[in-house]
Amino acid sequence: MFNVKNAARPKAIFTLWIRLNRKLATVDRLAKWGLVHDTTCVLCKNVDESLDHMFLQCHYAGEVWERVLTWAGIHNNRPKTWAQFMQWSIQHGKGKTTKAQLFKMILVEGVYAVWNERNKRIFEDKKCLIDEVVKNIAYVTTVRSPISINKIISHRKI
Ligand SMILES: [Zn+2]
Repeated sequence: MFNVKNAARPKAIFTLWIRLNRKLATVDRLAKWGLVHDTTCVLCKNVDESLDHMFLQCHYAGEVWERVLTWAGIHNNRPKTWAQFMQWSIQHGKGKTTKAQLFKMILVEGVYAVWNERNKRIFEDKKCLIDEVVKNIAYVTTVRSPISINKIISHRKI
């Protein structure tokens, strides 16, 4: 059973975050070793896929971040490299304030959504519009958030 009011939740998010980061780093390395043949980014079909590109520099991811961060009321000055992004997320995700919790949720959901979209395109040959992805992040964040966060975001349009 998963209780959203459980005090362990920030820790669970953090664990997920670290695990995800390791997994993503592995994928990045595979591409560098030439074990993945077509390394073009499937989100823009324009540039070689890398962590920095796929999650931060690609216009697809950029638009997703732009919209969800604005929606969440987070000052949108996200870094453009994965290493800086990790630092940024640790810095702003620190503590138990409502703002920090919302920030962490948005980051985890955002990274997951971009990763999921990438895999859908590669393995299922399916595509989602940015608008659908963004609305889904907002929906999931609203549904899963504790009351303190829910009060802030539930009335916001995305
Ligand atoms: Zn791209």
